[in-house]
Amino acid sequence: MKRIFPLVFVALGIYSVQAQNNVPSETDLRIYGIINSVSADRIEKDVRALAGFGTRNTFSDTLSDTRGIGAARRYIKAEFDKTSEACGDCLDVFYQKDLVTPDMGNRIPKEAYVVNVVAIQKGTKYPNRYIIMSGDIDTRASNTMDFETDAPGANDNASGMAGTMEAARVLSKYEFENSIIYVGLSGEEQGLFGGKGLAEYAVKQGWDIIGVLNNDMIGNIEGVDGVISNRDFRIFSEAITAKEETDRERNARRFYGGEVDGISRQLARYVYGNVKKYMPEMNPMMIYRLDRFGRGGHHRPFNDLGFAGIRIMEAHENYTQQHQDIRTEDGINYGDVVEHVNFPYAAKLTSVNAINLASLAWAPPAPETVQIGGIVEADVKLKWTKVDGAVGYKVYWRDTTSPTWDYSRYVGDVEETSLEGIVIDNYFFGVSAVGANGHESLVVFPNQIMR
Ligand SMILES: [Zn+2]
Repeated sequence: MKRIFPLVFVALGIYSVQAQNNVPSETDLRIYGIINSVSADRIEKDVRALAGFGTRNTFSDTLSDTRGIGAARRYIKAEFDKTSEACGDCLDVFYQKDLVTPDMGNRIPKEAYVVNVVAIQKGTKYPNRYIIMSGDIDTRASNTMDFETDAPGANDNASGMAGTMEAARVLSKYEFENSIIYVGLSGEEQGLFGGKGLAEYAVKQGWDIIGVLNNDMIGNIEGVDGVISNRDFRIFSEAITAKEETDRERNARRFYGGEVDGISRQLARYVYGNVKKYMPEMNPMMIYRLDRFGRGGHHRPFNDLGFAGIRIMEAHENYTQQHQDIRTEDGINYGDVVEHVNFPYAAKLTSVNAINLASLAWAPPAPETVQIGGIVEADVKLKWTKVDGAVGYKVYWRDTTSPTWDYSRYVGDVEETSLEGIVIDNYFFGVSAVGANGHESLVVFPNQIMR
């Protein structure tokens, strides 16, 4: 009998060491491998090739092999096909297209197909869950309707397109649980038609979209204001997607919060946090708006249909080098030419995308429902639906004025928890699912109230 107690203690000791080891790792070394694999040289080659097609206006020549949008999309498809060949046909590459006619908008000079180039890397465990990286194929001169004049669009947006092709090359060397889509969208400058077409296609196919990382201009480091930085970049996200905003939800937000916690905003915070962790040399700026003031991008059509989507973009724009005919006027060189693209910077922003695509594609799905309670109590209570594939959950909170999830606690494989002494009124809360590899889902803001 006397010997039992020491044995129990030994057994408990072993148990607690194992329990500690079950906490998933905070970092995944493969992520550093991904960052190091992104090539500025390959991005330069693609930008030069795309800019070399003269114009890629949506209504430009489709038959020539050397000029116009037809040649450009065939080049992109050929590159995706090459990438796929190198990984044993791991990509499903195809064109997705929709017809636009002049009655559909005031920037459509004639009937044409808006053709996107899609490459899908299927996930092993959740093939119908998709994280998407997009760039744009098309360009414009000073006049959007002018499909003849040179419009090389080296930065806007061959840079984003080249980054997307490069991310496919790098990530196709790995296997993921969720699917990744690399896509070149067209018709952007004419009214965001390619994004609209693909978002509607996604709804028809029943795709479960985790989020869209839209890249539009990721290569310019010298701003019109004279600021030069190869570290700063912007992450645009709208507060609440159009589909989230019903009258009932708007009213609920007055009482329970959530005005700055829509699904796109959570995606923005995820990207921000991952960059701070794995690429601390970079300076991500979360911008709390859909896009630049009064301007648009291809994440918006996805937001319109209720999908999370953000825009990743350089921080310092130069307006004499976008949407301009190539010319010299009053000593200023106008035009979006290759000379203004900084390829190492475009590679950095491509890495920003690649590590977030990988993290999300390696992560389990987010909890579907997160309940919150603790009104007039000292402790906040959270309860969520468990997720297949998660080994545990992480509870996040932050001061109501903070843009980032500053506090967190890993709570293990449970479906509810309370945080002692954390008063529900003074913070915002969220929950993510954590996989065995340490990768996390997006944070889910509470969507139900516990009474
Ligand atoms: Zn543009």
